[in-house]
Amino acid sequence: MLDLHSHTTYSDGTLSPRQLVETVASSGVRALAISDHDTISGWDEAIAAGDECGVEIVPAVELSTVHNGRSLHILGFYPDPSKLDAPLSVRREGRKQRAWAIVDRLAELGYPISLPALGEGVSPSRPHIASAMVAAGHVRSSREAFDRFLADDRPAYIHYPKFSARDGIALIRDCGGIPVWAHPFLFRGGAVGEVFPELLEAGLMGLEVAHPNQGKKQRALLQELCDAHGLLATGGTDYHGPAPGKPARYPKANAIAIDGLDRLKAARAAA
Ligand code: AMP
Ligand code: ZN
Ligand code: FE
Ligand code: FE
Repeated sequence: MLDLHSHTTYSDGTLSPRQLVETVASSGVRALAISDHDTISGWDEAIAAGDECGVEIVPAVELSTVHNGRSLHILGFYPDPSKLDAPLSVRREGRKQRAWAIVDRLAELGYPISLPALGEGVSPSRPHIASAMVAAGHVRSSREAFDRFLADDRPAYIHYPKFSARDGIALIRDCGGIPVWAHPFLFRGGAVGEVFPELLEAGLMGLEVAHPNQGKKQRALLQELCDAHGLLATGGTDYHGPAPGKPARYPKANAIAIDGLDRLKAARAAA
């Protein structure tokens, strides 16, 4: 099997790259994309672990962009790391400023927290703040932290610095990678049918068809768009690891057939 979407502790996942690779290997996955939010720092450890467990690592990233005032995620496969490193550092610096702004906002609301120290190359994300709120005793779970404070329409929500979907697609293409719209039906800033032509015009090369939060009808519609426009169809688990203290339960039902890897590589050769 093939999984073209996953997260590690370098962004908001709970498994290290090595733990993640070992987990998917024992579930029968033969190729895995490491697609952390705005960072590629997990690649090297994953590749080393993959060599040992027989898992081919597809180097990837998931860019957080803003479209129509809402968060839109662009997956990038096989980008040249030497070109992507500097722009991603800028994005992570923006995330750090945003994390501090959220901490300030929470303090104003009467919920002071201290942010955990995050290592070099780690993308500060809202789940880190949610965990800090649990640790401070303000909420009982991450779920509660999002529902009351951190979700997009809640009082402590702050956007990351602007970076358009167009910019994100151009960046991946400039780096020789394949830009793919991640989980299109999770986008809250417009209908898929309206946003898709704009992204296509900007240089999009694929759509994430299989995703745990997209149903049968939605997948069929996305596959039709891919077929009609000659785009790559991808899919993956978007696995973030288990909740702290829980055993890892990899959702292998959401992995896809391994032959998707050949199509991805063909698209790479054409990029
Ligand atoms: P960030 O990139 O910092 O905005 O954080 C995005 C991450 O937060 C997502 O990948 C999810 O893991 C998590 N997340 C976003 N919205 C919610 C929500 N409403 N409830 C729970 N988790 C969420
Ligand atoms: Zn995430
Ligand atoms: Fe995403
Ligand atoms: Fe993701």
